[in-house]
Amino acid sequence: MNRTKNIDQLRTQSFDLLIIGGGITGAGIALDAASRGLNVALVEKNDFAFGTSSRSTKLIHGGLRYLKQLEFGLVKEVGSERAVVHKLAPHLVVPEKMLLPLYEKRGFGSLLTSIGLKLYDWLAGVKPEDQRRMLTRNQTLKQEPLLKPEDVKGGAIYAEYRTDDARLTIELIKTAAQYGACVVNYCQVEEFHYQEDKITGAKVKDHVADLSFSVKAKVVVSAAGPWVDELRTINHSKKGKRLHLTKGVHLVIPRTKFPVKQAIYFDVEDGRMIFAIPRGEITYVGTTDTNYQGSIDEVYTSKDDAEYLVRAVNRTFPEVNLALTDIESSWAGLRPLIHEDGKSASELSRKDEIFESDTGLISIAGGKLTGYRKMAERVVDLVIEKYFDEVESPCQTENIPFVGSDFKNYNQVKEYIIRTAENLKEVGLSHRAAYLVNNYGKQTDLILARLHQSPAPVNEVELIKAELWFCLTHEMVVSPSDFFIRRTGMLYFNRPLMESVLNPIIEDFGSHFNWTNQTLQKEKTELEKSIHLAYQF
Ligand SMILES: Cc1cc2nc3c(=O)[nH]c(=O)nc-3n(C[C@H](O)[C@H](O)[C@H](O)COP(=O)(O)OP(=O)(O)OC[C@H]3O[C@@H](n4cnc5c(N)ncnc54)[C@H](O)[C@@H]3O)c2cc1C
Repeated sequence: MNRTKNIDQLRTQSFDLLIIGGGITGAGIALDAASRGLNVALVEKNDFAFGTSSRSTKLIHGGLRYLKQLEFGLVKEVGSERAVVHKLAPHLVVPEKMLLPLYEKRGFGSLLTSIGLKLYDWLAGVKPEDQRRMLTRNQTLKQEPLLKPEDVKGGAIYAEYRTDDARLTIELIKTAAQYGACVVNYCQVEEFHYQEDKITGAKVKDHVADLSFSVKAKVVVSAAGPWVDELRTINHSKKGKRLHLTKGVHLVIPRTKFPVKQAIYFDVEDGRMIFAIPRGEITYVGTTDTNYQGSIDEVYTSKDDAEYLVRAVNRTFPEVNLALTDIESSWAGLRPLIHEDGKSASELSRKDEIFESDTGLISIAGGKLTGYRKMAERVVDLVIEKYFDEVESPCQTENIPFVGSDFKNYNQVKEYIIRTAENLKEVGLSHRAAYLVNNYGKQTDLILARLHQSPAPVNEVELIKAELWFCLTHEMVVSPSDFFIRRTGMLYFNRPLMESVLNPIIEDFGSHFNWTNQTLQKEKTELEKSIHLAYQF
């Protein structure tokens, strides 16, 4: 993906479809449309996955709690999609068993939970060997000794998948680019162009070059997540249904402080359910669900959000004795839900919805990371039916693996991790193998080839520099925040490592882009702001 070349293409070509937004929804639409033969452009005003698609709970899940709201259709669709997305990117979407503790006077009883989970497995078509298993009190406490023993009366284990949302989005964007989509980050749609009251393209601002230009397209789709209503306002079409934004926060805690043995889904005082998910050296906990009215461009964790989650952890795992000062990092995201009068944040449906304006702008919002492929299929079916009836190709994305996913099954991923660890053993870096393979799949080979070509002695800093080289040359990284937040997740999941490599990495950015000292300083300040927003309470 070459940014300069793609900008040239944006300025000079006329596209069948222009997609606004490089989150999971826009990325899914780009791949679906490009693989059906449409000439596609995608513009993202920040970095790819800057919005909600890098701030989720990072689960590819069926949404167990939506059963309570009787959303059987939604659970069936996203539940079934889990296995599909796992097949398409087995290194990035990995099976994760979830523990659901049951309590004497809280939540549902064992019988209801057992029936509910059976229904969940049945709706999603889960294989018999992965179906839910009910546990006795002793088995539950053995599974997770940190639970408060007096309260627990039993438990259940059921199947989900975990992922890295930002990497999933970026790999999907790269896959769309392989199918010919012209994708560019840091390009914002500022206004629309019209002919006879119908949209014919958009004025786009390239924030890197600080220049605006026009992009011509027969159809424009807005997949702008929480910003969907902002674009509908620019198009003068914000009427009828509107978005209802709710904020969700996650806290990152060192694993040594909160050493859960596996992922757990537990309830909070107010009846909400939250997750505690171990990942490498940390455990993350979330999420909240509160109405949001602040800036969409700058969403962060407040002290109240953090205190709510700390209380929730201490109530269920009293031994942990968590304090605000233990928190290493956090992230906050917005759910772009569809407003329904009289419903609270948690009661609003997670279903997606498509809005069509008289000018032809098609907007999609709502939904889940997990269901991105089916949402994309619905949008592209609509676009083809209305504007390209000569195109006969049905959706093919069920059989298009992600870039770097050259694995037949999950066992092959595990074998590749072992081989990579062997390769790195001699240089004392085998502990980085699982991280590299989960993040980059088979593209790890390119990173390791770069590492071994380097004249410098091989060490952890050199490995991260090789990773940076890969992200600069293959993933359109523009700033240190792109690298530390959305390509490697280091700001959230490995803060000590990030701090130790910050300076050499920023220097490499400087040499790659020929930055002046002033730009270097500006980028450093931007990154420091992101770090501050993640740890500010
Ligand atoms: C706290 C939380 C936890 C969640 N957990 C899960 C989970 O575990 N599993 C799951 O399946 N789902 C989960 N979800 C839901 C899921 O994350 C979202 O449904 C999904 O990420 C939305 O993606 P999107 O592409 O529609 O929006 P976004 O990711 O927000 O993408 C929209 C993009 O549009 C860009 N944009 C906006 N305006 C313009 C413009 N004018 N020009 C160009 N670009 C523009 C933005 O910069 C942004 O990057 C969670 C959501 C939240 C908030």
